[in-house]
Amino acid sequence: MTKPTISFEFFPPKTDEGLEKLLVVQKKLLVKSPKFFSVTYGAGGSTRERTWKTVSAVQQEGVETAPHLSCVGQSKDELVELINEYKDAGIRRIVTLRGDMPSGMGAAQSELRYADDLVKLIREVSGDHFHLEVAAYPEMHPQARSFSDDIDHFKRKIDAGANSGITQYFYSADSYAYYMNELEKRGVTAPVYPGIMPITNYANLVRFSDACGADIPRWIRKKLEELQHDDAALKAFGEEVVTRLCERLLAMGAPGLHFYTMNQSVPNLKVLDNLGL
Ligand code: FAD
Repeated sequence: MTKPTISFEFFPPKTDEGLEKLLVVQKKLLVKSPKFFSVTYGAGGSTRERTWKTVSAVQQEGVETAPHLSCVGQSKDELVELINEYKDAGIRRIVTLRGDMPSGMGAAQSELRYADDLVKLIREVSGDHFHLEVAAYPEMHPQARSFSDDIDHFKRKIDAGANSGITQYFYSADSYAYYMNELEKRGVTAPVYPGIMPITNYANLVRFSDACGADIPRWIRKKLEELQHDDAALKAFGEEVVTRLCERLLAMGAPGLHFYTMNQSVPNLKVLDNLGL
């Protein structure tokens, strides 16, 4: 079996002190020889500078670092400027997204409405310079008209020129198996990396999952609810659940794992240690 590809996602810290702390976290994660780090981008370009500053700092360690870039709420000119800046700075990979509208703005104000529009724009502006990752939703994007439509939209992003996918996080390996099977039926062969969210806190996980449409299976939710005031027990349970999930995903042929690190090292390292990676 080829060695699975590991990647780690960060969000851009708000302060210089936060960035210093993140670089300490990054050093610890480097022991797992990640293929790349990625840095998220706030709705409507709200973290444009911070994302760029974080990418610049993180890539100093010599590991490829990919900014996320979303298109809604920004003009085509702004996006082209940023794409060119990234190209000139030697960035080779972008996580290419639609993003969500900043509150108070309607979709009609966006020149580019969907992620496949941004994939096309990046290809127009910079040819094959960038490896483009796009988002995939094994449990369906919450705004999709239907599950099939959403899978067709993923194919549209690949057809527009994206190279690979990273999924929203999920805790049911079967949803990934089903999704990959549906892509295969549509002739999509691009690799899709499962997004892995370690479980470390009950309230945060429930809040995030409700917001992004990720399902927490009832048995996991109930157990976490029971353990929510026992930090050590909750983390141990979360570690076991996520390790088993990753084992199953790799056994069914997932090409690697993309960790939503939440800017922490320990929960991600523990899962990878358990997997022997
Ligand atoms: P799209 O692929 O454009 O899809 C959005 C919705 O529109 C889907 O429901 C799809 O089915 C539908 N759709 C697509 N094309 C069409 C069409 N032509 N006609 C009708 N419907 C269509 N958010 C951030 O703000 N910053 C980040 O850094 C960030 N990073 C992320 C990283 C990953 C790996 C993932 C999975 C998500 C990330 N998100 C991030 C969240 C993401 O921005 C939201 O989920 C957003 O709502 C959708 O973005 P998308 O790129 O998946 O959109």
